[in-house]
Amino acid sequence: MTKKIIFAIIIILILSFYYFYEKNDKLLNLVFIDVGQGDAILIKSANGKNILIDGGPDSDLVEKISKFIAYRNNKIDLIIITHPHRDHYYGLISVIKKYKTQKIIYSGIDINLADYNYMKKIINDYNLELIKPKLGDEYKIDEDLYFQITYMPKTKTVENLNDASVSIKLTYKNFHAIFNGDSSCEIENIILKDNTNLKSKIFKASHHGSKYSNCDNLLNAIKPEITIIQSGVDNKFDHPHQEAVDRIKKSGSKILRNDELGNIIIKSNGENYEIEYKN
Ligand SMILES: [Zn+2]
Repeated sequence: MTKKIIFAIIIILILSFYYFYEKNDKLLNLVFIDVGQGDAILIKSANGKNILIDGGPDSDLVEKISKFIAYRNNKIDLIIITHPHRDHYYGLISVIKKYKTQKIIYSGIDINLADYNYMKKIINDYNLELIKPKLGDEYKIDEDLYFQITYMPKTKTVENLNDASVSIKLTYKNFHAIFNGDSSCEIENIILKDNTNLKSKIFKASHHGSKYSNCDNLLNAIKPEITIIQSGVDNKFDHPHQEAVDRIKKSGSKILRNDELGNIIIKSNGENYEIEYKN
């Protein structure tokens, strides 16, 4: 009997350790999740706020992000859907169903496709706040951590949905990162006109490393140290294109690819950063 009680106590102690243990190192974590051909970036603040930029093309995102979110911290504070292409939003449906989500920022541009309409229905069913921000808007996430909207489409429709991508500059103390979704070089030039300081250590390559994005002008303004390319192995678009890879290297940036490295994590204290890989 006594042995059984001791055994039970040990089990309870182990379970409560896992329950209360926060996977939190008190650093900003940018987790570039390997979702194949698509974008998904989980931003974890030093104090446990979770932000998700895009959700990749598959519903298994929910399992993939669970490795990085403590069981007790079962919520997403904010989701940014850069634009309504499946490789950016589809995985979000399962995430919204599992994680208590607060609000969603999006481009304001919708498409009339079954999967997309279903996601909008889920957003509505779960009573999530849906925000269409304006250029220059600033959102505070946590202490010393905020982001600024660096691009928003000004029209209700666009010729190329990639060019509807909501773009942001993330700032944590003296550490910055740029995320422009799938914007083309044409939009990059507008971003350059509308924003004065884009210099950032981290750049999420636009449009999975397409040659029609990631142009010299933007790279010269960001001067990234690390550029992360989110593209799938043997994808049908041949992303990343060699021309873009060459331009990024010429700008002095190192390239890290999800298709070669799996999940890529950049950890920062607001000054310096380190890189980790976890699959
Ligand atoms: Zn895409």
